[in-house]
Amino acid sequence: MATVHNWHLGRDMEYQHPGGAYERQFAAVFNINRCIACQTCTMACKSTWTHSPGQELMWWNNVETKPYGGYPSGWDVRTLALLEQANPAGQVWQAAPGDDSAPYGRFDGQTVFEAAPAGERVLGFIPEEADWKAPNRYEDHATAAPAAGVSLPEHTGWFFYLARICNHCSYPACLAACPRNAIYKRPEDGIVLVDQERCRGYRKCVEACPYKKTMYRPTTRVTEKCIACYPRIEGTDPLTNGEPMETRCMTACVGKIRLQGLVEVGDDGVWIEDPNHPLYYLVHEERVALPLYPQFGTQPNVYYIPPRWVPRNYLHQMFGPGVDHAIDAYTRPSRRLLAVLQLFRATQQIVFSFDVEEGSKLGEINVGGEPLEIFDDVVVGFDRNGKEIVRVRVEDPLVERPTKLNSI
Ligand code: SF4
Ligand code: SF4
Repeated sequence: MATVHNWHLGRDMEYQHPGGAYERQFAAVFNINRCIACQTCTMACKSTWTHSPGQELMWWNNVETKPYGGYPSGWDVRTLALLEQANPAGQVWQAAPGDDSAPYGRFDGQTVFEAAPAGERVLGFIPEEADWKAPNRYEDHATAAPAAGVSLPEHTGWFFYLARICNHCSYPACLAACPRNAIYKRPEDGIVLVDQERCRGYRKCVEACPYKKTMYRPTTRVTEKCIACYPRIEGTDPLTNGEPMETRCMTACVGKIRLQGLVEVGDDGVWIEDPNHPLYYLVHEERVALPLYPQFGTQPNVYYIPPRWVPRNYLHQMFGPGVDHAIDAYTRPSRRLLAVLQLFRATQQIVFSFDVEEGSKLGEINVGGEPLEIFDDVVVGFDRNGKEIVRVRVEDPLVERPTKLNSI
C-alpha cells in the first residue's frame, strides 16, 4: 500500500500502488444542463468498439435518466449503500473550500478502498446479469408531475440525463483490485487499459469499479472497458494530421455538452496550474465542473457541470459540496466562462489552451433579476504547439434578411 494525495477528498489516502508520474491526464467536462439524451454518443462508441459477438450488453458510453435509471441497474445506490453500511453516518464532508489540493473541503468518510472488507482490496459488488440487460430503463421518468408555474433554480418534479464513460481515474479501483496486474494506466496520458493477454476474467475489476465501467465478455472470457479512443488521442487519425483528436463519443455529441482534453498533473496528483487550459479553467479556476461521486475515492477524471433544476441535496450526494458554487457560477457566467463554454464541440482536435479576444458591449440580459452584460467577444483555441485551431464568436451576429430578397 502507498499513501497518495486525493485532491477531490482534500486529504491523503491509502492506495494499492504509488501515484504515477503522468506526462498528461485524459480528462473531460460534461455539461449536464445541455444533454438531450439523443444517445448519439452511445451509438458512436458502440459502432466503433463494441459491435461484435459477446459485446451485445456492453455499453462503454451510456446515458441514463436520473434518479431512477442506471446502467447497470442501481450501480451507484448499491455502492452508496455498501459504504453507508461499512461506515454508518460517517460519510460526511467538512466543506471548507481550499486551494487546488482541497477545492471542495475535506471528506471525512471512507472510500471504496478504506471500507474494503478484510482480505479484499476494494469494497464493491458484481451486478446480476439482468442488471446489464436494460441500459436505458426508466428513460424520461420524472420524480413527479411538474407543478404548475415552477421555475428555476429548483423543481419539485425533476429528472436529468447523466452521460457516463470510464473516468480513467487517477486511482482506479479496477486496477487496484486486479490480482493479475492486467490493468494499467498509461504514463503518457493516464488512460486506463486492460491487457487482454494477461486478463483471466476473474471479474475482480467488475466488482471493484464503483462506476461499473469494466465489463465482462462471455465469448472471450476476459474483461473489456473504454479505451478512450487512444488511437485518436495519439493522433493516428489522418483527419487531424497527427495532432491529438477527441474521442468518438465526444466529437459525435449533438447537444455540444462535452469538451475533452489532456491536462498536466504534478507528482502529487494535483493538476498543474494552467489558467489558459480550458479544462483547468473550468475545474479549478471557475470550479463550475465537479467530479462524479468523489467520495468513492478513485479521483475520476470526467467532470460535470451540475443541472440547475435538481434539488441540492441530491446533487450534493452526487457531486460533493462544490455544487452550490458551481450552479451559481454557471447561472451567472463570468465574461471569460461564457467564452470558454463556446469551445464545447467547436473542433475535433484537442484544445490545449485558449484566449479571449474582447469586443465591444452588445447589451444586457436579465438573469435572476440582475443585469448581465454581453460582449462581442471571440474565443480562440490552440493546439499543443500553440497553433490556432478554432475561433468562435460568443454571440452570433443577428442578421435580418431584407424582405425583398425573398426568392419565392
Ligand atoms: S471508472 Fe472504473 S473502470 Fe474506469 S478507471 Fe475508474 S475504476 Fe477503472
Ligand atoms: S450525444 Fe451528447 S447530447 Fe446526445 S446523449 Fe450523448 S452526451 Fe447527451
